[in-house]
Formats: sequence, structure tokens, C-alpha cells
Amino acid sequence: TGIPNRALFRDRVKHAIARGARTGFAPAVLFLDIDNFKAVNDGLGHVAGDELLCIVANRLHAVVRTSDTCARLGGDEFGVLLEESAEGPGTDQVGDAAAGAAHVAERMIASLKRPCPVGGTEISVSASIGIAVIDPSEDDIDVLRNADVAMYRAKASGKGCYQVFEPTMHEAVRSRLSLETELRRGVENCAAGAASPFVLHYQPIASLATGEVKTIEALVRWQHPTRGLVPPLEFIPIAEETGLIITLGRWILGEACRQTREWQSQSPNAADVGITVNISARQLAEPQLVSDVAAALHTSGLQPELLTLEMTESLLVDDSAAMLARLGALKALGVRLAIDDFGAGYSSLRYLDRFPVDLLKIDKSFIDHLGGPKRESPLARAILGLGRELGVQVVAEGIETAGQWSRLRALGCELGQGYYLSRPVPAHAVPALLEARPGA
Ligand code: C2E
Ligand code: MG
Ligand code: MG
Repeated sequence: TGIPNRALFRDRVKHAIARGARTGFAPAVLFLDIDNFKAVNDGLGHVAGDELLCIVANRLHAVVRTSDTCARLGGDEFGVLLEESAEGPGTDQVGDAAAGAAHVAERMIASLKRPCPVGGTEISVSASIGIAVIDPSEDDIDVLRNADVAMYRAKASGKGCYQVFEPTMHEAVRSRLSLETELRRGVENCAAGAASPFVLHYQPIASLATGEVKTIEALVRWQHPTRGLVPPLEFIPIAEETGLIITLGRWILGEACRQTREWQSQSPNAADVGITVNISARQLAEPQLVSDVAAALHTSGLQPELLTLEMTESLLVDDSAAMLARLGALKALGVRLAIDDFGAGYSSLRYLDRFPVDLLKIDKSFIDHLGGPKRESPLARAILGLGRELGVQVVAEGIETAGQWSRLRALGCELGQGYYLSRPVPAHAVPALLEARPGA
């Protein structure tokens, strides 16, 4: 990348701290980490990964002043030192410096979003940035750690954004570390066949015309001894980052298939009701997913055509040959593939042509204004049209009102899911749902 390394960067930060103490100016450090860099490296290859790092370095340079320092701190991490992030000497140097640095961070995030030509294709890069304003009482290690902690928070709050460091963040990091330790222990117990602290809840997906339940989505929860029932958005990201999702995901697949067979043995209504399981990016990146799915089907004896795997579209940014082959191998097992949260993430539709998709789930955000007093977005209708043209089924997610339900039915949407039909429920409550025809 031809830019300074960590050692040089630390040295510059040291000098900036000394200068800040003298001049009263508050310099700031930005810590930038590329989101999902591993997916680029794994999917497009190391050469493409290196190309991307150079592009990022260039774009960072273009956004800052020549007196500022951009450095590669290692892996996919960059550090930026803004010598004078406040506009001028004022009474609130720290606040002004933070605001100035935030402005720079915004420009960096926007600049990286522009298409990056790597590995013969174009990708859009998302990055998470932590900002620490330099306090003359701290040393360079403190400053870098603070910016790192803030970057961590930016990642945790959904990636692709920045956070300014605050001292309370250290507490949050400690709590996250203890959550991670407990999660690891829980997943290890699961893998060892001991009692699982995880449970699956199930939410029906029904025919909008008849209310008949066609499929059931498995949604994982963590039964934590002191925190209670922890929702997936609080631990799935940790499981992904740490790789624990591989083992946890294997358990989820096995349990969902086993449970579906159990309903089949309990209720004639369950005979051809399918199950859908969410698959995370990290799972899809491992070749082992194919054998895990095969094992879950084999052990449970579930008919493959009753299993649907849901993936969010951001996963499919990587359209490498390896990924296509993996999706093909999953299809060859006889399972169905669905795109979750369709329309909410990646905005290229090219993958729809190349991936063997059976089902699109329209993101809740497109459903919210249907059948209500506000002007409705034409996008729900457009996605339904897209589904028809492609010959894939469409599910509307997050239906909360009778108005949304009937509007979607009128628009010709085949399947729906949402609190209006049923919230996710424990396994024992499912047979009753299969008889009740929720929503109809
Ligand atoms: P998702 O796959 O898009 O699942 C739908 C989420 O929306 C669920 O939240 C569900 O309870 C909620 N939902 C359903 N109907 C409505 C509605 O009418 N209104 C509103 N406001 N929300 C509704 P949940 O269970 O908290 O799961 C959140 C996300 O966590 C899931 O989004 C999925 O991305 C992830 N997740 C859940 N279970 C698993 C799993 O077993 N494996 C993986 N990898 N991810 C999972
Ligand atoms: Mg889902
Ligand atoms: Mg969804």
C-alpha cells in the first residue's frame, strides 16, 4: 500500500500528543476496519484483497489533508491521524475536534462506497471507524486503544458507520467479552451433546389466500441463566465474528430438522410443512456447510425438499466460482434456497441471474406502509413482479396488520409471515398453529 506502518504511526501519534499539549489543539485518531474483508479475500482471492487495500489507502489519502498521516496498522486495519481536526482554536477543542473527525469519517465511508475495481469485478466497500480525540494526559497506546474500542462499537452497531470514543465504552467491551466467553461455553456444551442453552422458536409462513401454514422459520434464542432469553441479534453477530456460528449453526440445522420430523409424527397437518433455517455469511464461507446440511437431513430423515436455507443478499456479493459451486452443491442435496431481507441490503440484482434462488423474502421495510393511510412504496409491487418474472416464490416479511395482509393478498403475493399471523413460538405451540390457519 506504500503507506506508513504501525510503528511509524505510533511515533506520529506520540508527537501529536506532545504538540497538542503545547498548542492546545486537540488532534484526533481514526481507526478504520474494512467490514467483511475476509469474504473478499476468501471469495476473490488474496491478489484482489491486496488490490482492495491499495484502493482503500488511496481513497483515505484523498479525503485528508497532506499534513495528516494515513497508516496501515495491519490486516485490514488503517489508522489516520488528523493533526488539526477542529476548524480553529475555540473553547470546546475536544468537542470541535470530535465533530471535525466525524466529518472526515463520513467522507471516508462515502468514498469507500463508490465501486472498487478488484479481481476483475467491482465491489462496494463498507468500513467501520472509531474516533478518539487525543487527550494530552494519555499516551499513544491509550489513544490507539480508545479508537479501537470505538471502532468495535461501530461494528457492533451495524457496521458501515463511525463512533466517537467515550470512557463508558470500556465497560461495554468488558461486558461483551464476558458474553463471548459464556457463548463459547454454551456452544461447546451443545457440541458435546450436553444440555443446550439455545432454543429454537418457530414462526409460521402461511398462504395469504388460505391462511394455511406452508413453512416454519426457525429462529434461535439463548436461554441465559441471568440475562433471560437473549434475542439472536445480540449474540449471532458475536458468534459470527468468533466463528462459533459454525458449531452453533450445525446444532441449529440438526435441531430444526429433528423438530420438524417430530411434528410430522405428532400431527397429520405437518406432513408437508417445510422448515426454513437462517444461514450466516460465515457458514456459507465454509465448504463444510454442505456436509453439515447433508448430515442434518440424514440424521433426521427429513425430506430435503422441505428444508429451505435463508441467506441475506449481502452474502451474495461474493459471486466467486467457489461460492456458486457451494450453492450448487446445496441445491444438489434437494434443499431450497431463499434470499432473506430482500431489497434491504446489497443493491445489485445481478446475482439473481446466477444463483439458484427459489424464494425471495421481501424485507419488512417495504411492507410497513402497505394498506395504511400513507402513500405506499411501489417497491413491494415491483419485487412481486420481479418474483413472477423470475419464477420464484415471494414471501412478505413482518406483516403486522390486517390491512397489510389483505393488501398483499390483493397484490398477488403468495406467502406471508409476521406478528399478525403469529409471533415466533416455542416448538410445542406449533401443532396448534398448523390447525388454526392463522390470519385467515
Ligand atoms: P430474520 O431471519 O429476517 O427473521 C425475522 C425477524 O423478524 C425475527 O426476529 C422475527 O421475530 C421478526 N419478526 C417477524 N415478524 C415480525 C413482525 O411482524 N414485526 C416485527 N417487528 N418483527 C417481526 P428475531 O427472531 O429476533 O431474529 C432476528 C434475526 O436474527 C433474523 O432475522 C436472522 O437474521 C437472525 N437469526 C435468527 N435466528 C437465526 C439462526 O438460527 N441462525 C442465524 N444465522 N441467524 C439467525
Ligand atoms: Mg430469516
Ligand atoms: Mg428477514
